[in-house]
Amino acid sequence: MKTSGLKDHQHIGKELDLFSFHDIAPGAVFWHAKGFVIFKTLVEYLRSSLLKNGYKEISTPVLVKSSLFKKSGHWDFYNENMFNFMHEKEMYSLKPMNCPEAALVFSSTKRSYKELPLRMAEFGILHRNELSGVLGGAFRVRQFVIDDAHHFITPDQIQKEIHKGIFAVVDGTVCGNGNGPRTMEPVIKNYILASNDQVAIDAISAKMMGFDPMKIEFIKMAHDRGLGIGDLGQIEIIGEDITNVNFGFKTGRSPVIYFDQVFRQGVFSFLEPLLFHTGLFALCIFGSEFYHDRLWYPTLGKIKINKFKKTEWGRLFNKY
Ligand SMILES: [Zn+2]
Repeated sequence: MKTSGLKDHQHIGKELDLFSFHDIAPGAVFWHAKGFVIFKTLVEYLRSSLLKNGYKEISTPVLVKSSLFKKSGHWDFYNENMFNFMHEKEMYSLKPMNCPEAALVFSSTKRSYKELPLRMAEFGILHRNELSGVLGGAFRVRQFVIDDAHHFITPDQIQKEIHKGIFAVVDGTVCGNGNGPRTMEPVIKNYILASNDQVAIDAISAKMMGFDPMKIEFIKMAHDRGLGIGDLGQIEIIGEDITNVNFGFKTGRSPVIYFDQVFRQGVFSFLEPLLFHTGLFALCIFGSEFYHDRLWYPTLGKIKINKFKKTEWGRLFNKY
């Protein structure tokens, strides 16, 4: 972060009468009426999105006994960054994170697995004891509000839960055509895809590369199980119209993939226990290395990579 950026936003805060800082509370924002409108608008936007996605909002105390953080395991790692003080012979802390208290809300009553997944969101006011030297306007503070959430779930719900909340970016500046990562031909396409649906982003990449996503087993499976949308007709695309985009990419079988398939699932699968579950597995690794590094790369691979190295992205790659 450049210092000029820090100065800019503090300057803007003052000029537009949005917020101010005072020595009396280092690292804590004083929101003015106009600035607080922005703050509240952001919170309301997040709140509406959280409610739509099945979160329940809770609120827990800012000041708690430090023993909570000892119990949660945070204390040993984090107590130097916390504000702690003695009161009536007991140590208290300003909470630096919401997790332990959210867990208390969860454990306050008997729960049934039918309630899960249980998603608790909190706009918690947190305090972290940053050294005064590193404080920087509203970017590096001691007191802040975090849009936090805790999911209480069964182990088999993990994938479904995290899938939905992750924002994925697919870098298609350089794409790969061919049989697999080690025999890939780099092709420049200069696309960037972004989505919070992991399945949709795979489906769109597959479509652009020239495949029918719902015919790809793992995309169809993910779609059918509700992990995301794999059906192109149900995906809304914002940005360029990609209806007619087709890179015409092809997959195929390198000898290694062929070998893998016939011995794992094909006619020679009776040899699978011997080849893949004993010391003979070293042979498979050797075979793969021999093919990729001794055969494919010095002949076909090198030509393709040298061609790529002359492109703009190839030159950039070379610089690293
Ligand atoms: Zn947490």
